[in-house]
Amino acid sequence: MKVNSQVFRAYDIRGIVQKELSDELIEKLGQAMGTMLIRKKHNALNVCRDGRLSGPHISNLFIKGVLSTGCNVYDLGLGPTPLLYFSTFSTQIKNGVMITGSHNPKNYNGFKIVVDRKPLSGKSITEIRDLIESENFLSGKGVEEKKSLLKTYKNEVKNKINLKKNLKIVLDCGNGAGGSLAPDLFKDLDIELIELFSEVDGSFPNHHPDPGNPKNLKDLIDAVIKNKADLGIALDGDGDRLGVVDNLGNIIFPDQYMALIADEILKENFGRKIIFDVKCSTKLKESIETSGGIPIMARTGHSFIKKEIIKHDAVLGGEMSGHIFFNDDWYGFDDGIYSALRLIEIIADFEESSSDIFNNFPQLVNTPELTLATTDKKKFEIIERLKNEFEFNGYEKVLIDGIRLENQVSWGLARASNTTPSLVFRFEGETEDALLKIVEVFQKALFSIDDKLEIKLN
Ligand SMILES: [Zn+2]
Repeated sequence: MKVNSQVFRAYDIRGIVQKELSDELIEKLGQAMGTMLIRKKHNALNVCRDGRLSGPHISNLFIKGVLSTGCNVYDLGLGPTPLLYFSTFSTQIKNGVMITGSHNPKNYNGFKIVVDRKPLSGKSITEIRDLIESENFLSGKGVEEKKSLLKTYKNEVKNKINLKKNLKIVLDCGNGAGGSLAPDLFKDLDIELIELFSEVDGSFPNHHPDPGNPKNLKDLIDAVIKNKADLGIALDGDGDRLGVVDNLGNIIFPDQYMALIADEILKENFGRKIIFDVKCSTKLKESIETSGGIPIMARTGHSFIKKEIIKHDAVLGGEMSGHIFFNDDWYGFDDGIYSALRLIEIIADFEESSSDIFNNFPQLVNTPELTLATTDKKKFEIIERLKNEFEFNGYEKVLIDGIRLENQVSWGLARASNTTPSLVFRFEGETEDALLKIVEVFQKALFSIDDKLEIKLN
């Protein structure tokens, strides 16, 4: 079978259901996974799915493929992605597949794969692809068992979280899979909870479940202000990303709330490392240093961050997209629900309001993540040209992922998106002028490559 290269991405597998993700491909993916696992001397995997409408169909086909190789399956049913990750730590089975379209449009779905408690590497994704193309599958008779871990997960989190006072929290699950777990857990912890869109509904009737886009936080902001809540929490479609709004309705970007979390964690873990991606502010780096930690910048992408955490035995990791990884009292995987509760636990320790607490961590004048549509081929070419053809005098070049330029008063980033045919930018400056200046530096270079490459600031 020929595999569409669009589907096999840098760190996961995703596509449009019935088009790029055909029934045949899904079943063969199951066969490839089962075959690979048995060859690696494993005999089972956990399977979980988010609330997308195509989830049950894809799950059935995938499981059928796995079982046909002789590999066993524990079907966890519907749940958020962190529940699947959790299953690889809380059960004997260290492998798992999450069927999720994450925050992509509703006609998409995909697979996040864990082998031996680690995200599947690019090399192993190629291995799976080769197996599908060669159809060199094992055959056997696996056994399927249904297993719910919702209670185990909730009990474990409840034992770890200790809230010093009762807070009023608005939680927006965006009709995503987090709704199957988070609201009950929050209420069990005596949080005064105002729920928005907890009902799991893959047609996403209210707003798209992507807290990275400020327009999806509007309902949350309104509810926080109206209810005079202490904090607003938004989860993405599969519950592995965290969006935060303070008590005044200000959006708190992940690199801002990470500075607070880092400061708290480092009190018990002085000198430990903290990983963050290239999209995060230089203020986060400075803040981690001030709090006594060692900041390490990494490539964007949840699997890259996870690898760096393992490599450096980091105590915390996080991405500007809202994937936060606690590795002190949790398992080092990205978990929007657990991360939200840890943040709430920190806020509950303070006398001040959440907006006052976040104000202690100054931020630069910045842009959100900006995108510029191009093609999958061109996005890499443009970044290579930016890296190689320009001097950018007066700036330090950081080439971990795309090109990041830094000086005393500003920084800017241009990189190729991992998931879409587009370029991604972010800029920050000490002042509005400094911000515009760094944008101008990138813009000038881009125009000299192609006069259609215009960075739009809003
Ligand atoms: Zn997600």
